[in-house]
Amino acid sequence: MSTELTLLRTSGRSALDAARPDVATDPQVSWAALVATIAAMPEVAARLLADHVDDGTGRCRGCTRGGCGTPSARFPCTLSALAAQATARTRLRVVR
Ligand SMILES: [Zn+2]
Repeated sequence: MSTELTLLRTSGRSALDAARPDVATDPQVSWAALVATIAAMPEVAARLLADHVDDGTGRCRGCTRGGCGTPSARFPCTLSALAAQATARTRLRVVR
């Protein structure tokens, strides 16, 4: 490690890390980063939207209890919301 980096390091976070939002702990930054990541992969967003749909009872067909396939999460689930926002972001980018 260079002398400069050694000097920047303080208690596990560098001065450079402190100057930017903490993606790992800030929920809004983490969500925006996830939306941006999925928006860069439109085929993944489309697959999430196809798999995470209302099962007709207000539950997500894609979010099931482990091992039994029973829908467990309310619809819209987190993955559906993520994919919808990513798709909207992609469409906004295309329109501009
Ligand atoms: Zn789901």
